[in-house]
Amino acid sequence: MELNQLLERITDEIAPLRGAGSVADYIPALARVDPSRFGIAVADLDGGVHGTGDWEIPFSVQSISKVFTLALVLADSDDVLWQRVGREPSGSPFNSLVQLEHERGIPRNPFINAGALIVTDQLISLVGDASTELLALLRAESGNADLRVDDEVAGSEAAHADRNLALTHFMASYGNMRNPVATVLDQYFRQCSIAMSCRDLALAGLFLAAHGLRRDGSSMLTSRQAKRINAIMLTCGTYDAAGEFAYRVGVPGKSGVGGGILAIIPGRCSIAVWSPGLDKRGNSVAGVAALDHFTTLTGWSIF
Ligand code: GLN
Repeated sequence: MELNQLLERITDEIAPLRGAGSVADYIPALARVDPSRFGIAVADLDGGVHGTGDWEIPFSVQSISKVFTLALVLADSDDVLWQRVGREPSGSPFNSLVQLEHERGIPRNPFINAGALIVTDQLISLVGDASTELLALLRAESGNADLRVDDEVAGSEAAHADRNLALTHFMASYGNMRNPVATVLDQYFRQCSIAMSCRDLALAGLFLAAHGLRRDGSSMLTSRQAKRINAIMLTCGTYDAAGEFAYRVGVPGKSGVGGGILAIIPGRCSIAVWSPGLDKRGNSVAGVAALDHFTTLTGWSIF
């Protein structure tokens, strides 16, 4: 079956799930998005990109940004970061505080909020303006020079930041923060508030399917580093539902509370899906279902 036909079929099959779940209302600006939106895009290693539905409409990438900040930090150095953050699944909600005290301010992995705040802190130490560096990477990889931070979403996150403030201060109290809490949070909210379409995101994530190579053939990461990011996406990318996601979809994936999911099929393609209705763990209901259909119909799960 042609990829376009396959994507149309998946879009039809998930139609009853459009609008299922609930939008992320703890960030008020995200609660205004139409929950029945659905888009999917697939970028292949030859640079082709196919999509259906709302695949060219920008949405808030939220935690999907954490994949790219991690890539930027690991591209510089593998060692320092892993003294400050682990790489085990948390089994806890993405914004949970409970493990942090037991584990003395060292977050379980780079994809829960606490771990991502450490990665952003490290990126600030490396480059200063972390979110601008991230935006430059995403613009280059997606080929879309118009990508922007949505200042309304960033402001909304900053105005409702009690949990992320608590996480950051708590880690600072254990000496695991190099930059001022306010600076780290400002950069973190900006990175989460970048708006991208499924098309942009599938293209931007392609280096993870291409064993670390960018679309122009230059190296973003070594193949070993790309392998490792994919492994962390598989085990930690969908929080306390990572086991269920591996069971249903069977490829590395990273979700965000904007309703997007980036999924990587190493050696083949990168897939971005978007539908704002979330399940209780913060993953898109229709998005996970679409990826489940995709890997079932193509046989392209890694298992
Ligand atoms: N900006 C969101 C937060 O910090 C990101 C969470 C997510 O997408 N899971 O709460």
